[in-house]
Amino acid sequence: MGILENKFQDNIIVAKLDQILSWARSTSPWYFQFGLACCAIEMMATAASRHDLERIGMMPRSSPRQADVMIVAGTVTMKMALRVKKLYEQMADPKYVIAMGSCATSGGPYTPHGYHVLKGVDLIIPVDVYIPGCPPRPESLIEGLIKLQEKIRHERPLTRKNVS
Ligand code: SF4
Repeated sequence: MGILENKFQDNIIVAKLDQILSWARSTSPWYFQFGLACCAIEMMATAASRHDLERIGMMPRSSPRQADVMIVAGTVTMKMALRVKKLYEQMADPKYVIAMGSCATSGGPYTPHGYHVLKGVDLIIPVDVYIPGCPPRPESLIEGLIKLQEKIRHERPLTRKNVS
């Protein structure tokens, strides 16, 4: 028995199932690959080799059905708002939304006179993390994604509690 204990003592982790599920989900939130305006260029730069989003487990998916995170990168026009909502609804639960940049957060430079722009994507879908800037730099997007990962890590999917 003593020999077995020594053999396995460095290879066994004891944790609650809830905690392990949250940890696993937080380290691989795949994001939906789509962009709406100039902020999307920064999102693409963040995914490229210089910043390399895959090192924090973020991988782009071209279908909303395979994505966990929607990064709303750009101006949401009234024409696109219903399409954005429809794409969000096609994502499977649990799903998360990041409002990247001031347009997605509040209408940005279009706030005073842009009758054609939605004044914040949170008017149509729930937002988990807001990232300020016009446009936010890749470092800001990475920080927002790390915040989202922290939020997911604090969720307890089985008991539906949040331990933050
Ligand atoms: S926040 Fe600025 S950079 Fe981003 S989509 Fe709006 S105008 Fe373009």
